[in-house]
Amino acid sequence: MRYKIALIRGDGIGPEIVGETVKVIDKIGEKFGHTFEYVDVLMGGCATDAVGVSYPEGTAELCKACDAVLLGAVGGPKWGSDRPAAERPETALLAIRKDLGLYANLRPAALRPALAEACPLKRETAEKGIDLLVVRELTGGIYFGKRDKYQTEDRGLEATDLMAYSELEIERIGRRAFEMARLRRKKVSSVDKANVLETSRLWRTVMHRLAEEYSDVRYEDVLVDNCAMQLVRDPGQFDVVVTENMFGDILSDEASMITGSIGLLPSASMGDGAPALYEPIHGSAPDIAGQDKANPIAAILSAAMMFRYSFRLADEADAIEGAVDRALAEGWRTADIARPGESAVGTKRMGEAIRANI
Ligand code: NAD
Repeated sequence: MRYKIALIRGDGIGPEIVGETVKVIDKIGEKFGHTFEYVDVLMGGCATDAVGVSYPEGTAELCKACDAVLLGAVGGPKWGSDRPAAERPETALLAIRKDLGLYANLRPAALRPALAEACPLKRETAEKGIDLLVVRELTGGIYFGKRDKYQTEDRGLEATDLMAYSELEIERIGRRAFEMARLRRKKVSSVDKANVLETSRLWRTVMHRLAEEYSDVRYEDVLVDNCAMQLVRDPGQFDVVVTENMFGDILSDEASMITGSIGLLPSASMGDGAPALYEPIHGSAPDIAGQDKANPIAAILSAAMMFRYSFRLADEADAIEGAVDRALAEGWRTADIARPGESAVGTKRMGEAIRANI
């Protein structure tokens, strides 16, 4: 098969980690007989430097003409909040998500077996394994609702943020979660606060409807406070966790912390129709940029997600994930995951070690 991939290399360590990821994708192409065409898309601080704006005209169209988008990271102190919005890299990130209609954010949190010691939880908990996927609604809820701040007569200033969800928004993210569960261990845990919030009661009604339709997938309701607790008590019980925007923001960070380094975790953002966008969860790490120190694993595992979810090539995705695990088991470590006394290699050497295991 032939696939076209948009590459947003971005700023800081972005170009280094995307560079290693492209070499891994090409290696998969060689092994499984696929061809990849890459379209370089200028976005972020580097675009501001080159053409004066972080999100040049035509960026979304270039991405839409591809089968998937791979993003390194954008941003850095050079393009700070003193700059006009059009020059700031964050503006570009929000714009691309909006233009591609990316309403579902997928954040897997898997403990790599060779790094079980990096898990901050009890050894017996880590030994049971952690492999869950947080499916977070990304374009609705309280972060996008009407906000207000006003003076009251007797209570000083008062502020409000409105949380609103429609059946349409809940159903499309719910479907995404059930579809993902079918590609995994077939269990969905829907997280809400239905004992208090009206939006959560609507959320639950829609999810129950979907649970009947996807009767081959096991389903449970979990209250958000209980979910936060279960994530540190027994994360192995979760497969797909689906939730609204703010709960997902908080729980996905909690889920990533229990698996160790920020340099290891991939993510995907998806909509309907347009290509999905794959990116590591970390930022552009300006402190180590250009020094061959960045861990390329989060970016490489983002490519594995691209194979699994955009190209529907599970064997190729398994091959990448397996190669990462074998390279780690052989003892290869970048500085961020090396323990005291362990020697560390650079971005390029880690990429090479992973490719050698494909
Ligand atoms: P960061 O994730 O870039 O860095 C946090 C810490 O983790 C740093 O010490 C960094 O060196 C380390 N780190 C991050 N990725 C690593 C990797 N792959 N290997 C080894 N170490 C790694 O977060 P930050 O410092 O808060 O943000 C830096 C810039 O990135 C900011 O401009 C921010 O806006 C931007 N950012 C971009 C994205 C994105 O492009 N999606 C996401 C988050 C932050």
